[in-house]
Order: sequence, then structure tokens, then C-alpha cells
Amino acid sequence: MEMKKKLYNDLSSYLKELFGARIYKITIDSGLTCPNRINGDGCIYCNDRGSGNGLFSKGFSIEEQISMGIEGLKRKYKNIGGYIAYFQSYTNTFAPISVLEKNWSIIKKFKEIVGLSIGTRPDCLSQEVLDLLNEYTKNYKVFLELGLQTIDENLLKWINRGHTVKDFSDVLKRASKYDFNIVVHIIIGFMGQNKEDMIKLARFLSYEKINGVKIHLLYVAKNSPLEKEYEKGNFVPIEREKYIELVCTFLEHLRKDIVIHRLTGDAHRGELIAPKWSEDKAGVLRDIKNYMESKDIYQGKMWN
Ligand code: SF4
Repeated sequence: MEMKKKLYNDLSSYLKELFGARIYKITIDSGLTCPNRINGDGCIYCNDRGSGNGLFSKGFSIEEQISMGIEGLKRKYKNIGGYIAYFQSYTNTFAPISVLEKNWSIIKKFKEIVGLSIGTRPDCLSQEVLDLLNEYTKNYKVFLELGLQTIDENLLKWINRGHTVKDFSDVLKRASKYDFNIVVHIIIGFMGQNKEDMIKLARFLSYEKINGVKIHLLYVAKNSPLEKEYEKGNFVPIEREKYIELVCTFLEHLRKDIVIHRLTGDAHRGELIAPKWSEDKAGVLRDIKNYMESKDIYQGKMWN
């Protein structure tokens, strides 16, 4: 019998293999901020919730958010093997080390937590922070989520990231000396982005010492600078078919072992301005799968 080919290296299978059970993420807003918002308007697609769920400003402590997350997931799923505490909102390494220590150490109160995931920027990882994070590798699987978004310096300027590709490569060199699972965030959906750009990006990442990639769709969120550009007609969101084609091209040229943490981005409830097709996340994921199957595309097919 012919074995069914795996289309891409998906996160849930990877975690299941790693932990021998189903593992779920709990998203945490620890109430920090971001240097890019303090020094300016922040990234063009970011709104005042710092790409997070805004729970901290609603009065929920980190401990409460973890408890609520565990309870919610337990109601939804059976046979849960553990949880990953994901510090997502804003820049989760942008605070005095004592604050980071206090925030991250809260996970020790929950025996079901098996992993710690920290979302941050390439220009915000001091030696002190790396050393603190390294302490957690003794008892937890530690994921370091680094926002790169694009390797096009002009686009980095346009989205106002406030860092360069070199900043990313430099920090990666330092971080990869540790036992972190490094996950890179990228964006698909820039105007004029084409298959050639996807191949370049996939090859760039495949040569780096990284473990995972999270793909975001460039959507227009309410109260983001991009909303103004969209209203002025300066930004036209990518079409659904084009997005699917670009994601599949990216995967086809990406190293096989890199774990895909996400294939598209979805805005928080009530925050999406455009493109409206992105609300149908399940449909987009289904179409990506169908596109790959119909064109015999799979992750890593064109890598080396
Ligand atoms: S780095 Fe993150 S939190 Fe900071 S402005 Fe950009 S998207 Fe927002």
C-alpha cells in the first residue's frame, strides 16, 4: 500500500511526537509594551493590543490567564498531555530582568505546563535575557519566537519594524547556541509579493539554524496604521487564491524538518477590517491542503 505523503511538518504532530501526548498552547498577555511602540507608531499592522488578546488590561493576572486557559481547554478537549505557556502580546523580553523573572516563574505553579514560549523582536534579546531563558530549558521545552516578517529591507522599513535583517541574523547566531526551539514569524500578503520572493525567503530560512516558522497573513486590523493606508487606497490586501499559491510555494522550498506553527493569521474577534476571506480560516487551510495535493507539492520538495 502506498504511504500517504505528509504535506507539511505540522505543529500538533510535532508536539505529539515530542511529548507523547496532545499539547495545547495558552496565550498570555503579561501587560508589557514594545520598544517599537514607545519610540513611534509601532509596526504598521499592529494595534494598541500589541497583537495580543488584551487580557492583562482587562484585569486578568498572568496566573488567572493560565488557570482560565487550562480550564477552557479542558472543557474543549479530552486526553490533554500538557500545556505551553505562550507569552504573546507585545515584546515579551522588553522589561527589567526582575520583571521577566517574576512573570515567567508563574508557570512553575502549574505542574501541567511543559513548555514556555516567548514572543519577541530581534533587537530585544540581551545576554541577561538569554541566560534567564536558558534556566527554563532545564525543566521546560523553551520556544523562542522571533519576528522577522520579511527579508526585504524596503518592506521592513515600510512596515516600520525598526530592525534590519542583519539584526535578525545576529541575534539568531547568539540564540542558537542555546537549547531553544527557535520559531521565526514571517508575513505573506505584501502588495506585489510573488513566487520568487517566497523561494528567496524559504531558502534564506532553510539555511539558518531554526526549528519552526509561523506564517501570518498581512491583514488590516482595526486601529492599526495599516487601516489608514487601506482607507487611502495605498494598501490592497492579497487575494485568497494568491495567498494560497504563495504559502504553498514557500512550503515547497522550505527545509523539510522545519515545523510549521501556523499557515495563516486570524484577527481577534471584531478587529478584522480586510481581507474578509481570512475569517474563513478552516476553508483557507482546506484549500491550502487541496492545492498542495492537486499540484503534488509538499514541504521541502524543492529544497536542495
Ligand atoms: S513588535 Fe510586535 S508589539 Fe511591537 S509594534 Fe511590532 S507587532 Fe506591535
